[in-house]
Amino acid sequence: MTEDTHQGALDDARLETLAVRSGISRTAEGEHAEPIFLTSSYVFASAADAAARFAGTADGNVYSRYTNPTVRSFEQRIAALEGGERAVGTASGMAAILSTCMALLKRGDHVVCSRDVFGTTVNLFARYMAKFGVDVSFVPLLQMDAWRDAVRPDTAMLFVETPSNPLCEVADLAALSSLARENGALLVVDNCFCTPALQTPLALGADIVVHSATKYLDGQGRCVGGAVVGSAAHMDEVLTFLRTCGPTMSAFNAWVFLKGLETLRLRMEVHSRSALELATWLRERPEVERVYYAGLPDHPGHQLACRQQSAFGGVLSFALRGGRQEAWTFIDAVRIMSLTANLGDAKTTIVHPATTTHGRLTPEQREAAGIGENLVRIAVGLEHVDDLRADLQRGFAALAR
Ligand SMILES: *Cc1c(COP(=O)(O)O)cnc(C)c1O
Repeated sequence: MTEDTHQGALDDARLETLAVRSGISRTAEGEHAEPIFLTSSYVFASAADAAARFAGTADGNVYSRYTNPTVRSFEQRIAALEGGERAVGTASGMAAILSTCMALLKRGDHVVCSRDVFGTTVNLFARYMAKFGVDVSFVPLLQMDAWRDAVRPDTAMLFVETPSNPLCEVADLAALSSLARENGALLVVDNCFCTPALQTPLALGADIVVHSATKYLDGQGRCVGGAVVGSAAHMDEVLTFLRTCGPTMSAFNAWVFLKGLETLRLRMEVHSRSALELATWLRERPEVERVYYAGLPDHPGHQLACRQQSAFGGVLSFALRGGRQEAWTFIDAVRIMSLTANLGDAKTTIVHPATTTHGRLTPEQREAAGIGENLVRIAVGLEHVDDLRADLQRGFAALAR
């Protein structure tokens, strides 16, 4: 294997170039595309080599629960895109969050987590981390005073996801990173919605970025996976957890994500452009009460999003005049968009958050989070925007019947 195919030529390369060129280690076959190493284990050159690799005194693969060349390629590429020292691939986005917590938290630590994160992340902290003696406080994403008040001497981690799902609220990552630093805590950012094509939290002071690769990194809805990115010291800890406990990324999935990253920038540009166009159009519709998309100048997070993101992403929500009945009638009338809770796919998806992704919240919690029964979320895909608009027209036509 040649370790650095491009021999330093990528040192100052831009994201588009890194997305295509970083993390490549060609074999003696001279293959142009990245190979898939579907092997569980590796042979050693000699008994002494085996002993050295097991002891960690010699480089080299031992077993694919620890390292795999295809997974390593993916890790190098996502680390390059996020501007991190190193990355670790995981079996899913939740495995990325779990591995980060298990590696970097201990009993008696306290976590401050945004209330507006992915629902399963809330369960991970409230149900499982709590069971092992990690205390967690949930705070509203945008209330910096609440973050400040929640931080205690034993706070070891702040966890945030921005922009939020489904209302596209934008958190101030530089402010949160200052707060974390002042208190000797780590700032962990779930960068699933923006991806490094639109936002690089490490450059704004975050310590660790986690990803559900299942979403935009794949981009075509094929594989489940995740990644953690950060300093070499932190990633050593995360990798040790993975080696020991096993939620490792599969080589095949790593290859799918590697190829997905090659088109990430192009896709995020189209997702963002089409979402902005649809959000602008939806806002003028009489049936629509309010549109939630940070690309709209009157969205409360617009200025901040302009500072810390290069575009506004593919997810938008809108509240229809009416309630659940109107939202369901609208969703049931579309014919191109897929009715599914997933996002980050080439195929546009539409969902009713109050009864699906946020259905487990109590009505009071939903109200506090601002997720009404009349809310519809769209994750805009790569279809032609005019066809998507025509599909939304079907929804409005059904409301008029
Ligand atoms: C989907 C998602 C996750 C979980 O990822 P999986 O790959 O499904 O385990 C975490 N965070 C966010 C923001 C997500 O959208």
